[in-house]
Amino acid sequence: MATKTKEKPVRKEGMYEVVMNQFAHAADLMKLDPGVRKILAKTNTEIEVNFPVRLDNGKIEVFTGYRVQHNNALGPYKGGLRYHDTVDLDAARALAIWMTWKTALAGLPFGGAKGGIHINPKNYSKHELERITRRFTYALGDNIGPDLDIPAPDVNTNPQIMAWIADTFSSTKSPTTRFANLHVVTGKPVGAGGLAGRDRATGFGVVANIKSWAKLKKFNLKGARFTVQGFGNVGYWTAHFLLKEGAILVAVQDASATFRNDKGIDPEALQAHSDANGRNLKGFKGAKEIKPDEFWGIKCDILVPAALGNQITAANAGQITARLVAEGANGPTDIEGEAILKKKGVDIIPDILCNSGGVIGSYYEWLQNKRAEIWKIEEVLVMIQDKIDTSFHKVVDAAKEFKVDWRMGAYIVALRRLEDTYMDRGIFP
Ligand code: GLU
Repeated sequence: MATKTKEKPVRKEGMYEVVMNQFAHAADLMKLDPGVRKILAKTNTEIEVNFPVRLDNGKIEVFTGYRVQHNNALGPYKGGLRYHDTVDLDAARALAIWMTWKTALAGLPFGGAKGGIHINPKNYSKHELERITRRFTYALGDNIGPDLDIPAPDVNTNPQIMAWIADTFSSTKSPTTRFANLHVVTGKPVGAGGLAGRDRATGFGVVANIKSWAKLKKFNLKGARFTVQGFGNVGYWTAHFLLKEGAILVAVQDASATFRNDKGIDPEALQAHSDANGRNLKGFKGAKEIKPDEFWGIKCDILVPAALGNQITAANAGQITARLVAEGANGPTDIEGEAILKKKGVDIIPDILCNSGGVIGSYYEWLQNKRAEIWKIEEVLVMIQDKIDTSFHKVVDAAKEFKVDWRMGAYIVALRRLEDTYMDRGIFP
């Protein structure tokens, strides 16, 4: 079988261990019902598909994709698809579990799932990515669906990829149900049934959380210095909205390069450079390129990890000077990293709260499609803000009640909702 590129071995993220550790800790603290604990400790369904695609050079390559459906007690499975060479069953499992907590905390009628393809999309042309996406969708078949499991963008996937999924899924159904299937994915381009504002929803939500934190701590965001790891959708939009609050972006790191400028980096200029340069930050003129390891020690008030899991670890947590870590990524802080941050008194807005603006936006896109309506961006952002504010205060209150940190507070709110549902509904048969 022809392979186009030799994939380098990558470090296993170990995110599954982190999420299970957090879950066990929270379940103990809140004395979660033992039966519900057993249910939530397992994923409901794990799908692995191998599917062939013909590349532009005429050769065939076989790809491996995953979809893990953790729990659907609250509604259809929901969560993104990532295209990355760290995607495997363990990663999809961990990320699916985090989605269950995230949707439960946000008060949405959704469960949790995650998936993706083990691939480095930079090695493939746009036409190849289209065929890979369409064939992956076909391989998943009726394991996804608008009332069953609804994918969305995640690392290295975007509205274009969602449009291909929606089109492929609908095209394999009767033409009479085409528009009844539009909401099989969210995060679509606005012209293909997407929601105005879904593009910026995650970053907008990260900043809504940071604003609530600043208010609570009486911290002035004007002139505050922040750093961002990851300059994809979440990193860019977080920087965009934090600048509007008067904060200064002093460093950015992504897989391609790390930049620093104490006078401030313009996220719009960096985004334009990245777009023109095939999503590579190298060569940006508005800041000085530094070594990747120097990123963590840069003096700042707020650090936003917005890339992959397990980035803040024992190796770098000691260098972090920020007062606040706002987790734009899923699972960016590992167990040891978190212990170090806590000892230093650093506040953490946990991922399942901090980056929940994305899936909240997805919920409104799903509703918009179901109701055949079209909403304005202003209305959408108000609705996202409202849900984030509600969750933030619930988390702070639960943390106070149980005398725990905000991550455990967030878990307790989420797990209480799941526990209540199981208690009210019982278990079939
Ligand atoms: N991938 C995003 C997340 O991790 C969004 C999921 C969604 O909208 O379904 O929350």
